[in-house]
Order: sequence, then C-alpha cells, then structure tokens
Amino acid sequence: MHWKTKLIQSDVRPPEGFKSLVTPIQRASTVVFSKQSDVSSNWRHAQEGYTYGLYGTPTSRELAARIGELEGAYRTIVLPGGQAAISLIYLAFCSAGDHALVPYSAYGPNKELAENLLGRLGIEVEPYDPLIGAGIASLIRDNTKLIWCESPGSVTMEIQDVRGISEAAHDRGVLVALDNTYAAGVLFDAFSHGVDLSMQALTKYVGGHSDLMLATISVANDAVWERIGTVHRLVGMAVSPDECALALRGLQTLAVRMDRLQASTLTVASWLREHPAVETVLHPAFPDCPGHEYWLRDFSGSSSVFSVKFRDAVDPRAVENFVDTLKLFSIGFSWGGVHSLVILYPRLVRPGKDYGGRLVRFNIGLEEPADLIGDLQDAMQKAGIS
Ligand SMILES: *Cc1c(COP(=O)(O)O)cnc(C)c1O
Repeated sequence: MHWKTKLIQSDVRPPEGFKSLVTPIQRASTVVFSKQSDVSSNWRHAQEGYTYGLYGTPTSRELAARIGELEGAYRTIVLPGGQAAISLIYLAFCSAGDHALVPYSAYGPNKELAENLLGRLGIEVEPYDPLIGAGIASLIRDNTKLIWCESPGSVTMEIQDVRGISEAAHDRGVLVALDNTYAAGVLFDAFSHGVDLSMQALTKYVGGHSDLMLATISVANDAVWERIGTVHRLVGMAVSPDECALALRGLQTLAVRMDRLQASTLTVASWLREHPAVETVLHPAFPDCPGHEYWLRDFSGSSSVFSVKFRDAVDPRAVENFVDTLKLFSIGFSWGGVHSLVILYPRLVRPGKDYGGRLVRFNIGLEEPADLIGDLQDAMQKAGIS
C-alpha cells in the first residue's frame, strides 16, 4: 500500500486486554457494519446495537444507562442540554391543536419556548399555579396532552405535589413530565411519584464543574420511550462523547459534592434568614418556602440553590449594588458547580406577586461557608443594607 493509503487504512492494532477504571471516549459519526445485510438505520441502540453517531455511542449509552439506573427508569436518552430535552418532550407529545400545562415557576426558557415557538405551531401551553396540586384536574381539557412539573420551581422555589398532579393527570390519560434538575435525579424519586418522564440538565450537578452542557430524559415505560425515540431520530440532537465522559466523571463525586453543597448552603441560607434586611429566604428546607410540606414528604435532601427576597424598605438599587460588590460570588446564570454564584432578577413577577426588583438567587459552591458569609456581610455593609 502507498503510504497515503496507510494513513487511512492501517493494520496496526494496539494489544488487547487493556482495562482501566475509565469509560473509553468513543467518537463517531459513521458506525461501521460487518456486511451490507447488517446495515440498519434506527435509534434503538439499547436493544439493537449501533447504527450512526447521532443515535448513540458506547460512551453516551453508558451515561444514559447510569442515569437510568440511578433514577429507576425504564430507559434514558442523553441530549445536548436541558433546553434541548425540554423541546424534545414538547415535540414528541404535542401537535397542532393540543394543549399543555406548565407551572408559572418553570425554567424561563421553557415558558419562552411555549409562548413563542409552540404558539406558532398551534400548540397552546397554559401556565398554572405550581401549588395547585390535585386541583390541576380542573385545568385538564379534552385536548390536554402534557403536564409539566418542575419542583422546586426556578427562582421562586415552589415545591410541587407531584404525586397529586400525576394522579389527576393519569385519571384523564395525560402524561406528566418533570424537570428534576434541582434534585440531580437523586434527591427526588420521580418515578415512584408517578411521572412519565423525568428530565434533568446534567449541566448542573452531574457535570458539577460549570464546564459542560448535557441533559437526560428518563422514561417510565415502553410507550413513552417509543414516542421520544422516534421524534429524537428526526430532530438531530447529537451529543459529544467527550461531554458524556465528563458527565460520567462527575457522577463519581456527585454524592460528596451534594452532601457538602447541602450543608454549606443551609449554613449560608440560615445566616441570611437572620439578617434584618431579609424578608424571606426561599429554600425548600425552610418552613416559609411555598410547598415546604411536599419537600418534607418527598425529598431526601436539598441542594445548592435558593433565593432571597429583601424587605420592601431596601432600595432595589442597593440590592444591585450589593450583587456587584460581592467578591466571592460571581454573577452568572446556571448553578450546580463548585463556584458560588449570584444573580438579581430585577423584573421578576409571578401572578399576583411582584418581587419589586429585590429577589436575588444564590448558588453556593465549595468555598468555606464562613468566607462566603463574611463576603455577604461586607457587601451588604458597603451597599448600605442594614
Ligand atoms: C439549567 C436548567 C435547564 C436547562 O439546561 P441547559 O443544559 O442549560 O440547557 C432546564 N431546567 C432547569 C430547571 C434548569 O435549571
């Protein structure tokens, strides 16, 4: 063979028998078949083997199976990010003329997708009170196909009666999808509470280091799997095996990170709760968090995000100044990594409730809590909040 051919077609094979503790990163667009009659093009890799990089590689399949095992799912699929997973769930279960329900505390881009893109496709997505519980029954119509839960809700942290909602939905043959990102798929057992689909942004706790974007959708049964798989096949949501390998690495330390984050977050949130300028700390483990009773009933722990509402006497400009003055808290979206983060929601309103530009969300990282508290105290003083 010419050396130019050898560059592409080599007889070199590394010796077999290598074993390490690490999942190999197997990259692929093309997947090679042994003979023409083996060629197939389907997404059912969990059952039937590999066909094309888009539908899975051994690396992404291992991650999917590991998350599925933790969540007690029938099967799990990996997606490029949480928002992609949310889009896929809508596209798989809603068609023109259908109706879906989403809590008004849901992740902002979920609601934006619903209002803008899905509305244009003739799918009506109606916001509902996250604390409605079994009362969701009164909102279910003949054309309702999907009910979203997200518990706790984004920013305002309402904990939902997922069991009550699931029972009411199933009485009418409606599917329930849960955004289980806060719980990292481990602090809340989605399937034992009746949901049909549990999605989580691995971007947050499983990744755990603010350096990757990935998500999973786990499903309860074969009918849901079939719908998700056949639509996934059409929308081209490919994942990189490198990202999957990082997520697999993140899983190895998830337990110690979650324990530490829970403890540090409770320490910092408790200090903020005692501060005279603070009206409420919206943390699921605190009794004044809406839906706290469901957290007590259903969750095995809390994680690292919570929000603080400053008293109305505090000038919203002082709140912004406080956020800007913090040194150990970086200003940024997302959460679940090892760095402490802060972000102000200047225009956040919920039906019947205006937070007056005084709602701040925190993510606590792995820094020493006493240093974080010192930074909060210092920044409040400098911003004139007392
Ligand atoms: C971050 C987040 C998402 C979106 O995940 P990405 O991977 O960033 O697209 C979805 N739901 C919740 C609750 C989130 O916090």
